[in-house]
Amino acid sequence: MYDFIFAGAGLANTLIAYEIKKARPQSKILMIDQRKEFKSNSHTWSFHLGDLPAESFESIAPFVDCRWEKYSVNFPSYTRTLDLGYCSIHSHNFYEKMLTHVKDSLQLDTRIVSVSKNTVTLQNDYKLQAKYVFDGRGPQKQNKSLGYQKFVGFDVTLKSPTPQIPMIMDNCCLQSDGFRFFYTLPWSEKTMLIENTYYSTNPKLSLEKERQLLYEYVQQKGWEIQKINRQESGVLPIIARYPSQENLFASGWKAGFFHPTTGYSFPVAYKFARELAAAWNNDENIEKFYANWVQKNKRNKSFFFLLNRLLFKAPPQQRYRILEKFYKLPPDTISRFYRGEIMKRDIARIFSGRPPMSISKAMKCFFEHMIIKPFMKGAS
Ligand SMILES: Cc1cc2nc3c(=O)[nH]c(=O)nc-3n(C[C@H](O)[C@H](O)[C@H](O)COP(=O)(O)OP(=O)(O)OC[C@H]3O[C@@H](n4cnc5c(N)ncnc54)[C@H](O)[C@@H]3O)c2cc1C
Repeated sequence: MYDFIFAGAGLANTLIAYEIKKARPQSKILMIDQRKEFKSNSHTWSFHLGDLPAESFESIAPFVDCRWEKYSVNFPSYTRTLDLGYCSIHSHNFYEKMLTHVKDSLQLDTRIVSVSKNTVTLQNDYKLQAKYVFDGRGPQKQNKSLGYQKFVGFDVTLKSPTPQIPMIMDNCCLQSDGFRFFYTLPWSEKTMLIENTYYSTNPKLSLEKERQLLYEYVQQKGWEIQKINRQESGVLPIIARYPSQENLFASGWKAGFFHPTTGYSFPVAYKFARELAAAWNNDENIEKFYANWVQKNKRNKSFFFLLNRLLFKAPPQQRYRILEKFYKLPPDTISRFYRGEIMKRDIARIFSGRPPMSISKAMKCFFEHMIIKPFMKGAS
């Protein structure tokens, strides 16, 4: 009998396993994944420094590959540099470093058929039991989405040095296939991640077209590519309501522990991992801890589901106006937005002025949203 079985050895469950081992090394843990290797070269996980309390950041700092003290945004009407810290983690480094901590608990190349609160069923009806089974098998296919956040990123080496400040939203590019922007992270003087991001109703991506757009963007910036080192792509559903909760313990995307509008999940996954490990270490009632955590997370996210509706119901060529206005707000509002801890006065700031769509369409979004959940309940 295990203390914990983690179904899926992705980002969220790996963080939990790591924190549980740290808090109580004698815990009996098993982490199962269908992947053949505990590796991934396909993600850059970024987050805002303010997303995590200082002591949590110190604890995860050894896994952070790059940290910047400021970042910029660029819209047709203005450019702004914000004194807000930003961090990135390369998935290949993350899994390599984590392997030393969790390797004794790993069972790879194993497909899970189903999970319940205490049981994992593998193929041939083979069952494993634990006090707590956490389902962290990633996004649920059945979630109805309003649209998608999709992106293709290229890690490149450039011929000459470039600015050393991340550009997390460069909207000064031709708008097509929804709302579109470039995102650049300078790893070193001459190496950089350049990512084309869309908020689109179409989940399809053409890698050939993306390469062409990359070269056009680089040329527009006056840069020159020496080499493309790596490529990453992803399509994340943008949803209008909380993922349905089955009768189990879940983590990461499966549990709805992600930012509904930006798709960032690292900070909330890590906060959950730390708090669960502390609860386990203090012999708290885990069932109660989990129920409270889910409740709190739901309340904090409600506003973002309304924002998602507005973002996708606005005409594609007007969507940028929501973000253009947003990035003019005070840094502490921007910080709380990313942290998912928005306040009533932030909501008023975000929604002040004319909506980027007809009043009747905006009212419809509010109405649909209010039927699902009154968002003001979630704001403090
Ligand atoms: C290209 C890209 C860039 C991103 N950028 C960011 C970012 O900058 N910041 C950020 O915070 N987030 C980012 N995200 C989102 C983030 O990667 C995901 O939210 C995160 O990986 C979700 O973590 P998870 O643990 O829930 O799921 P995953 O990390 O997807 O892990 C799920 C695991 O479950 C395993 N699994 C699934 N089904 C089974 C089964 N039946 N049996 C056994 N194993 C199974 C899978 O193999 C996988 O290893 C990005 C996503 C993509 C695609």
